[in-house]
Amino acid sequence: IRESNPLKTINDEIFVYVTKKQKEIDELKKLELFRREFLADVSHEFKTPIFAAQGFIHTLLDGAMDDENVRERFLVKAAKNLDSLDVLVKDLLVLSQMETGDIKMNIVPMDIRLLTTNIFSRLENIATDRNVTLRVKPDDLPEVWVKADADRLEQVMLNLIENAIKYGNEGGKVIVHFNEGKKYVEIAVRDNGPGIPYEHLNRIFERFYRVDKSRSKDIGGTGLGLAIVKHILNAHDTKIAVMSKPEKGTTFSFKLEKAYISLVTDNSAQDPV
Ligand code: ADP
Repeated sequence: IRESNPLKTINDEIFVYVTKKQKEIDELKKLELFRREFLADVSHEFKTPIFAAQGFIHTLLDGAMDDENVRERFLVKAAKNLDSLDVLVKDLLVLSQMETGDIKMNIVPMDIRLLTTNIFSRLENIATDRNVTLRVKPDDLPEVWVKADADRLEQVMLNLIENAIKYGNEGGKVIVHFNEGKKYVEIAVRDNGPGIPYEHLNRIFERFYRVDKSRSKDIGGTGLGLAIVKHILNAHDTKIAVMSKPEKGTTFSFKLEKAYISLVTDNSAQDPV
């Protein structure tokens, strides 16, 4: 039997207590820093469309209104900037609800293949503008049933497919692959665009992170799309992966639980153990 040393025991307890308090203080400091950075980022992102819209409207009020051509052009530009501000506010709201866990997931069986073809129809205009072909593979698969929150999964697929069209090559291809395993389906959104340089790959899921700032803003992105995708998939207990090769393209992929377990044994997609 070891002799107990009361002083050592008290010292140990104090040490554990101080370490715990220090950790709490560090955590609070981190949160405070995050809050300040977030506010700075948000104000910066708001400023751009507000200043632009203000500029067009004030120029009109200062006399440009009399020129019919300028009037129309400036009003369209002011409206566009206000529209992007609206998208930004909506995306921020979704992101903050996801981060605070305020959004309740409503997991139901759903056909992700049908969801994908519906999204293709919604994005037909921007795909046609960029002469991009949209495909689902394998093309003879009639349905792919997974367990997911229908509205949130729609946001995920819409963001990934829209990005693939916007950042892929003009005249390129966007393919959504479904790889069914026994318990899981792997979903991959692939483009054959310029790709994402390696040093940016693990940062693109951060809010407001853009690889090419000016290009992304021209395209109309808020810089929040992939941060939202990551949160939604986390809430489905799964993770998003990205693979990219310069000039070969980019693939975003994730796994979802199958809604119905197939009786046919198929080992083509590896289920997580
Ligand atoms: P954004 O609103 O700017 O599109 P996202 O969060 O959706 O914001 O994407 C972050 C950045 O990741 C984009 O600005 C773009 O630089 C890059 N990116 C996303 N998807 C692709 C893709 N398929 N190919 C190349 N770059 C991409």
